[in-house]
This record gives sequence, structure tokens and C-alpha cells, in this order.
Amino acid sequence: MRIIQASDLHQDVSKLETIANTAKTQSLNFVFAGDWFDCHSAVEKQAEQRGIEKDAVGENEEAQEEIKKKAKEAYQTFNTTISGVKTYAIPGNHDFKSMYDTVTNAHFLNKESATINGVKFAGAINSYEVPKGINPDNLVDLADDISDQELMMFFQQQGIDPRTLKKEEITKLIEEMSEQSPTYQRLKNEDLDYLVAHKGPTGSLTNKNPSGIGTGRLVKEKKPNVLCGHFHSGLVVGGEITGLRSAPDTFYIIEINEEDKKIDWVDTYEFEDAA
Ligand SMILES: [Zn+2]
Ligand SMILES: [Zn+2]
Repeated sequence: MRIIQASDLHQDVSKLETIANTAKTQSLNFVFAGDWFDCHSAVEKQAEQRGIEKDAVGENEEAQEEIKKKAKEAYQTFNTTISGVKTYAIPGNHDFKSMYDTVTNAHFLNKESATINGVKFAGAINSYEVPKGINPDNLVDLADDISDQELMMFFQQQGIDPRTLKKEEITKLIEEMSEQSPTYQRLKNEDLDYLVAHKGPTGSLTNKNPSGIGTGRLVKEKKPNVLCGHFHSGLVVGGEITGLRSAPDTFYIIEINEEDKKIDWVDTYEFEDAA
């Protein structure tokens, strides 16, 4: 079974067309790991048009309404472009709630897992970074897990300095807290061959970029391959975690073995070369 993986296309329609055409001609399932809308340029445009600072866009209701409209239009374009392609998606931290209703041609893995040719796929957004100048109420629910940051806040509230704890004590606390994670609760009893997460788990408490501890626990326990994006660079998910990270310039065609569910081979493409 073959899939084509991309993420972080941020409204680049010609890249999405490349993906859709390749998927159609080679009968590939398309896995999109999030970030179709481009919040940064939307905020910039609003600031320019209204003659206000970018920092003020988040508080400006009219600007937010306009951005919401633009997002909906962007998802309409996404939906038309992938028409006829078997698409499995998750939103990223740049994506708006309207993605769910508008992109009707995609199956959202973070809402419901899917079995593709006997291979099990689940999804988790796993990113907590609200783009500057965006009202978070309009974005998809990023709080479907517990971030490392929240864990640090919990330590602070309890007056615990995590540096004074033994590694095992921290692991135990994380485990206890990860039980509360909606993502962990949703997926803990499922078989996972592949987890599509916008941001792959870091599994590190001290990592500056917060990552979901429920997602981290799932990956540790179930050892799925992780297909992710978000960082706009870097190709392979490192360490003990296996999987692939796509970026705005890079997409993959992945051959998955239907017997052992593992990745048989990967072809890496640059959009420039594929066009
Ligand atoms: Zn992105
Ligand atoms: Zn992102």
C-alpha cells in the first residue's frame, strides 16, 4: 500500500495540485499532516489594510472576521483540489475550525481513526502554538492533549521544582497526568500502526517547544510510525521514534508493507523537482 505524505503547504495551491495529480496517477492515499491555512500572511494583510500593528490584529474583531472568511475560502480550494483523491488529514496549529465542515473530501484522523488496506492510522494535532494575531477561539481545538508547559505550570502551582525530582519520579508524574489527556483517553485502547501528528512528540520535559504528554505516552507504549510536520525543516523523526516529518518543500511517497505494517521504502521529493 502506498501513501503520499505532505504538510505545511500553507495555501500553496500549486503544491497541492502536484500532490493531487501524483496521488491520482499513482493511486496513492494522501496523508496531510496539517497546516493548510497561513495565519502569518493573513495577519500581515489585515495589519496593512487597516493601518494597525500586527500585534493589534488579534483584538480587532473585524480583522478576525475577515481572516475567518479567508480561511473558509482556503479550505474550499483545498477541498476542490483534493477531489477524487483518498485523503486522510489532521489540522495543524494554523488551521481553523471551518476546516472540518469545509474539507468534506478528507477523513479527519483526529476525529476518527481509519484502517487503510489493513493498516491502522490514528491522528493527534499535538501542537499548542497559537499563531500571533489570531483569536484562538477560531482555531481547531489545540488543547486535545496536555502540553509540557502545562505540566511545568502544575509543578509550579504545587511548589515542586522538577530539578529536585528523580527521573523516575518525573516519569511517574507525567504518566499520572497523561491519563487526563483527551488524546490518550481517545487512543489508549486502539491499535496504532501509524500516528499522524502535526508535531511529532519530543518526549522531553525540558524541550522548549511544548509537546503533548498524552501523545508522547501513546508513542512510547504503542510504538507507531509517526508521520508529522510543523517544523518546516528536518526530515526524519529521530531517536527511538520512527517516522517521517514533511516540510513545505518536501513530500514523500511511502510504501507500507500490509503484512508487517512497516515502511518498506520512502521516496523523498522536492516540489520543485516534481512540478
Ligand atoms: Zn506550518
Ligand atoms: Zn504548524
